[in-house]
Amino acid sequence: MKELTHWIDGEHVKGTSGRFADVFNPATGEVQAKCPMASAAETEAAIARAAAAQPKWGAMNPQRRARVMMAMVGLMNRDMDKLAVALSREHGKTLPDAKGDLQRGLEVIEYCIGAPQMLKGEFTDDAGPGIDMYSMRQPLGVVASIMPFNFPAMMPLWHVGPALACGNAVVLKPSERDPSVPMMLAELFVEAGLPKGVFQVVNGDKEAVDTLLDSPVIQGVSFVGSTPIAHYIYSRATANGKRAQCFGGAKNHMIVMPDADMDQAADALIGAGFGAAGERCMAVSVAVPVGNETADRLIEKLVPRVEKLRVAPYTDGNDVDFGPVVTRAAKERILGLINSGVEQGAKLVIDNRDFSLQGYENGFFVGPHLFDHVTPDMDIYKTEIFGPVLSVVRAGSYEEALGLAMDHEYGNGTAIFTRDGDTARDFAHRINIGMVGINVPIPVPLAYHTFGGWKKSMFGDLNQHGPDSFKFYTRTKTVTARWPSGLKEGGEFHFKAMD
Ligand code: NAD
Repeated sequence: MKELTHWIDGEHVKGTSGRFADVFNPATGEVQAKCPMASAAETEAAIARAAAAQPKWGAMNPQRRARVMMAMVGLMNRDMDKLAVALSREHGKTLPDAKGDLQRGLEVIEYCIGAPQMLKGEFTDDAGPGIDMYSMRQPLGVVASIMPFNFPAMMPLWHVGPALACGNAVVLKPSERDPSVPMMLAELFVEAGLPKGVFQVVNGDKEAVDTLLDSPVIQGVSFVGSTPIAHYIYSRATANGKRAQCFGGAKNHMIVMPDADMDQAADALIGAGFGAAGERCMAVSVAVPVGNETADRLIEKLVPRVEKLRVAPYTDGNDVDFGPVVTRAAKERILGLINSGVEQGAKLVIDNRDFSLQGYENGFFVGPHLFDHVTPDMDIYKTEIFGPVLSVVRAGSYEEALGLAMDHEYGNGTAIFTRDGDTARDFAHRINIGMVGINVPIPVPLAYHTFGGWKKSMFGDLNQHGPDSFKFYTRTKTVTARWPSGLKEGGEFHFKAMD
């Protein structure tokens, strides 16, 4: 059995706690590796090594740090195929999806090449007589990133890239369910020229996380994962005086107006609802057609499309729509929620509860499910299912549809499909959700904008990537300076006319 390691000071280091988590091949259900779970002492040692490496890195000029990012882009592109296979093998997503995961992470590293521009301070000449004032952005020191399983490349890169570009050292705690790609990325960073020790990877669970949250050395905490844990991490990190940004779960609604192009809307729902087996924080899990006639037309378009979806392991070629979910526990939880939907009176239009794949009977596959007549009191509506399940909630009017999305506790992403500019504009302005798509089902902002939800999808105030990330990973210092000579006579700036 393959035993994974931690990554300390640019070297693979074996775990010493004696505790391990199983890493599965979700397609076969087999355990393919053992991931070490760091003890508090191992985590503290990694933090101390990061603290020792940070000052030199932080003092390096930003352009030199940016060159490491530039080299990293080249190395990730060189190893893209290898990284994608490693990612699919542990996560279960298809190869095109794995490449998308890597690509969206890579785009943030490309953005980080602009660090010298982003880190430029501000300067006021002659703020008073002979007085100048300037502000600079300085790294926090050592920061921690605690990441989810569903984007094992993109999520760490969104945090580690900007944190490093700003001059911090990072201790990354990847998901214990798919830890290999973060480790491969750490190796590539060293190959790209990152000094050893600036980026440590500690595998682990609550013990490692709590050690990071309580360490006086850790200055900032970035978390991405489920809402209850996001809330816990935010509370504990901030109680300990740290800066924190914690991104949580989602229940993304897509409103379909009667004037929408119904084929386009149905295609969008198939990709956004079932892609990556629904294991995306920007997945659309609720479709809200406005009016019964719209709902009937939408269901009519959705059914044949859902029936055609091909569920298979990533090794089965490029026409696979989605693969297995991440663990057996995830599969059982999803099937349990589907059963609750039936019991609570929703109409299961496409029922794949007995789905099984020949040759992969022990794999964690869940077939696609489509519910109609879902109501807001049902568990399948209130809960983030994080599986290939699309719920249709029929709304009588635009206001009712808008109200549904507004009243839901999550506020990550949403979309409206319509041809009417007034309605689209009204929706974008009034909705209390962080990321909005107009005829775009998964409105993930690009690297130079910022990504973040509202309500219980986000605790903290600065978003992921884009300008917010450079604010999150730096502190502002403002200097007011007066030199002894002060303002001497004749020291004023004179405009001399040219003749
Ligand atoms: P999770 O909350 O189970 O785990 C996330 C991280 O927290 C992991 O590293 C895990 O080891 C750690 N953790 C788990 N329990 C802990 C505990 N009790 N104490 C301390 N640490 C703990 O989430 P997941 O299942 O890996 O990821 C899926 C979730 O992430 C979904 O809810 C999804 O919506 C969300 N997500 C959100 C975003 C976003 O930007 N809002 C992006 C991706 C995923």
